[in-house]
Order: sequence, then C-alpha cells, then structure tokens
Amino acid sequence: MKNPSRPASEAVGSRFPDFPEIPFIEGDGTGPDIWKATRLVLDAAVARVYGGNRGIQWKEILAGEKALAETGSVLPEATLDAIREHGIALKGPLTTPVGKGIRSVNVALRRELDLFACVRPVQYIPGVPSPLRYPEKVDMVVFRENTEDVYVGLEWEAGSAVAKKIIGLVGRETGKTIRPDAGIGLKPMSRFGTRRLVRMALQYALDQGRKSLTLVHKGNIMKFTEGAFCRWGYELARDEFPEVTVTEAALSAGDADGVMKGRLVVKDRIADAMFQQILLRPEEYDVLALPNLNGDYMSDALAAMVGGLGMAPGANIGQGCAVFEATHGTAPKYAGLDKVNPGSLILSGALMLDHMGWTEAADLVRSSLARVVSRKQVTYDLARQLEGAVTLSCSGFARALVEDLSR
Ligand code: NAP
Repeated sequence: MKNPSRPASEAVGSRFPDFPEIPFIEGDGTGPDIWKATRLVLDAAVARVYGGNRGIQWKEILAGEKALAETGSVLPEATLDAIREHGIALKGPLTTPVGKGIRSVNVALRRELDLFACVRPVQYIPGVPSPLRYPEKVDMVVFRENTEDVYVGLEWEAGSAVAKKIIGLVGRETGKTIRPDAGIGLKPMSRFGTRRLVRMALQYALDQGRKSLTLVHKGNIMKFTEGAFCRWGYELARDEFPEVTVTEAALSAGDADGVMKGRLVVKDRIADAMFQQILLRPEEYDVLALPNLNGDYMSDALAAMVGGLGMAPGANIGQGCAVFEATHGTAPKYAGLDKVNPGSLILSGALMLDHMGWTEAADLVRSSLARVVSRKQVTYDLARQLEGAVTLSCSGFARALVEDLSR
C-alpha cells in the first residue's frame, strides 16, 4: 500500500511528546475486541520504529454502555474534559439505540467538542476483495461537515406542539401547506460552518499535493442550504486561496492561462450524479467536501468500493481536538467472539500516529497490514470473499500484523 492520505490535522504541524498520554474509548459491542487488537499493533509498531525512545501511555476514558453502567451517563463530562485536555483520542464504536429518544453518543461527542470535520481517506489496499473492476483507481479523501444539516437533531414528532406551531407558522408566513400529520425536521447550513469545512479540505488538498477539490451538494433542489454550501465553498476558495486554486469552469472555458493550469482545481457535482461518478470515473476525483447527510452516505459508499467498512479509517477533527475512530458500528451480534475485522480501528490508529507526527510508525502499520492481507491472512468478512484465504480471528489478525512488522 502506498503512503496514503494523512489527516488534515497534520497540516497544522501537530506534534506530541515522546511518551504522551493518549485517551481511548474502548467502545460497545465488538469494541473491546477491536480495541485490544489495535493496541497490540500500534504499540508494536511504535516499539519497532522508535525502540524505547517513544511510547504511548494509554488512558481509558468512558463513553457508551460502559460509561452508563459505571457513571450513570453515556457521555460523562470527565470524558469530554480528558479529550479537550489531551486534544486527541482513539475511539471504538458506540451503540445508538434507535427511536428511544436517546441522542447518539457519537453525534453528541462531535457536537460537544465541535469536531466539525469527519475525514475519511479512501484508498484501495491490494488484495482486499472489491466489487469494482479497477478499485486501485479509488484514492479520495472525504471531508464531511459534522455539525449542521438535518443531523443536528432539530426535529419534532408529528402532532407535537412544536411541529404544529411550525406548520402553522409556515402556512401563515409563506402560504405553503405542510400536511398536519407531518413530523418536522430542520436543515440549518451556515456560511460559517461551510467555510471552515471547505477551508480545512482545501488546505489539506494543497498540503498533500492533491489535484482537485470537489464540492458535492444537492443544490439544484435545496438552493439555500445545499446550493449555498456550493456557493460558499467557491467563495472561500476565491477569498482565501486565490493564487493557488482555479475553478473547473474557468479551465474548461479556456479562461485559465498557463499559470493557472498547475493550480488545484475546484469543481462541484450534484450529489446523485456524484454517486455515479465515483463508480464510473473514480480517478477524476480526489478531495471531496460535503454537507453532513450526503457526506455520511458518500463515505460509506466509497468504503464499500474498496472493500467495506471493516477496513475504512476515519477521524473527526475540530480546531483543538481530533478523535480517531472505527467507521463501522458495534456489530453487536459478534460481541465477545473475537471475530470481527479490527482493520478500521487499526488504520484509524495509524492516522492518529500521523497526526502525532509519528509517521514512520503509521507507515509501518499500513504496510504491514497490506502485506498480511496480500497473503490472504484475513478475518471472516474478507475471507468469505477471497478464494484460498486463511481465516484469522480478530486477535489472530493483530498477531499476524505484529509478527510481520517485527521482522
Ligand atoms: P454495524 O455495527 O457496522 O454492523 C453491520 C454489519 O457490518 C455487521 O453485521 C457486519 O456484517 C459488518 N461489520 C461491522 N463491523 C465490522 C467489522 N469490524 N468487521 C467485519 N464486519 C463488520 O452496523 P449496525 O448493525 O447498523 O449498527 C450497530 C450499532 O452500531 C448501532 O447502535 C449503531 O447506531 C452503532 N454505530 C456506531 C457507529 C460509531 O460508533 N461510529 C457507527 C455506525 C453504527 P456481517 O454480519 O455481514 O458480517
């Protein structure tokens, strides 16, 4: 696997001491299994690369079911304080009960710490089974806005007093009719929120020598939210990066002179068309910036194209904090079976090492994982798609990585 995309946070030159304390959230369901596997691999890589000169002192912090059992809260204030204080954390998946009125711990964590960008590098690891004929053409980094859009939870049940009031207000103020038995959700998207997301994505693209930034939106229909996202994105590029960016429109209209041709191309795509584009012409896309909901769908679709969520790393990044996390859920039916693929959390841990400036250890984790997978030593999820594979347990996969990187 070639040296993949580094997280945006590295662009701001974040560096850590030689023996930092790093908070971790084990996670619910299969979280404890993948956490144990991940810790084994990260510690081994750091030890291998730096001898005894660097090491992580892991500090457990609580969230989710374990936190509820021990503290009575799914997201204790002490957990938020620890992440704020350290500026970093590694996190397993957390359960979100559906339809019980309990807010998502993941969403709350992002909101409380203002982790406004969900960053997902998507790159093919040779040997991983993929539904695409040429998965090696996929090399994108998704920047998904994390704090706005329909995700903010401003919604009211059908028949509730607030829903009725809003329906009445809309009718009186605009003359538009909403059915009286409708549930109501709001979709706020701001210039501020859009600009800081696009700024981070653009800075990342420039720092990493990427070729283009694509603003993905559904602005043809939702003009003042998704459409504004697109406009504000272009505006930000024009305001803050005028010397180093050029729009696709200017290039194709022939307005761009020779100098402009070497610049980062800023373009936009309507979301539905973009879902086709990533399948049909993935090589034309590089860094993507999306509003929250479309970004959610797009991240998972891209992950599936290169082998599924079991191997997709991710990070949620804000101004002073970064939380690196497995991108899949808790897979509760496999909890405690030592079965699932720890690849997503291991690769998120590698992104965390990048963020810390420990890039040699991060690269070793990734190359070792690529070698082990290429030998078809994989967990059940990949083994069922790979002829001749050796099926390893979650911990067995971690041990195979440690053995490989220790050679
Ligand atoms: P899920 O936990 O991601 O599991 C869905 C399926 O994906 C699993 O049954 C399994 O497929 C596969 N899978 C997930 N993780 C895997 C891994 N590490 N290795 C191999 N296969 C893996 O999704 P869900 O069942 O919709 O959600 C369960 C809970 O997790 C919910 O409470 C949800 O809210 C929460 N969740 C949390 C996060 C987060 O913390 N960031 C993200 C998403 C969901 P097979 O059965 O086909 O093998």
